[in-house]
Amino acid sequence: MAWRCSGKTNRELVGNLMKSKILSLNEGELDRISHAMEAVDRAHFVTDKSAAYTDSPQAIGHGATISAPHMHAYAVDHLLPFLRPGAKVLDVGSGSGYLCGVLHHLVSSYTEDRVTVAGKVIGVDHIPELVDWSVENLKKDDHTRRALEDKQIEMHAGDGRLGKCPYDAIHVGAAAPTIPEPLISQLARPGRMFIPVGTVSQHIFQVDKDAEGNVTKTQIMAVNYVPLTDKDKQKPW
Ligand code: SAH
Repeated sequence: MAWRCSGKTNRELVGNLMKSKILSLNEGELDRISHAMEAVDRAHFVTDKSAAYTDSPQAIGHGATISAPHMHAYAVDHLLPFLRPGAKVLDVGSGSGYLCGVLHHLVSSYTEDRVTVAGKVIGVDHIPELVDWSVENLKKDDHTRRALEDKQIEMHAGDGRLGKCPYDAIHVGAAAPTIPEPLISQLARPGRMFIPVGTVSQHIFQVDKDAEGNVTKTQIMAVNYVPLTDKDKQKPW
């Protein structure tokens, strides 16, 4: 079932998302999200173009879905304080690559068409075919194509539960049974992670690490995501 923000165009979809009560931010902050989401055409990241601007998740093959637009907006809404220009962000379960495009626009400053402050977005998905497809999708727009060339966006195949370096923000696009400790240790001080957690019932958790390294986990809302799992356990459909 489509949630309530569907539109006929990307712009209309984003306009409806910004008016929805799901987002908590003030006008200036909403503008940042709105610009980033308008800059990334969701039609480049779906298989059924006729439903590109429908506010629903959509199957993208390999047992994965592109999340519903309101969930992408909700995730960005929660991570926004950590998405300053120049920030480094990890997107685990990057699937279609859509959110990596949006995150790129949030962590990079543009003057005209030139990046003046470059952030870094790393997308990780354990299905190599999806990673290749996400790169193709991101190449459809000049900004994200150039960001790939300049390594401001990197898309990698691998298990996103593992990793190396500190990130200001981490988005996880698949539900983990429990919050993976390696991801918590990859959060910068300060840093924030947005992650769906649970098996039968799932909730979004916001995990905050403060400047001293103290970690707080806050449960925010019930959701329904595909599982964060082992590659050979992911059910294709
Ligand atoms: N956020 C993406 C995709 C969400 S679907 C989008 O909106 O397009 C969840 C994704 O998580 C799938 O692409 C799946 O392949 C990936 N995934 C599941 N477990 C994973 C793991 N352990 N490591 C990396 N990716 C994983």
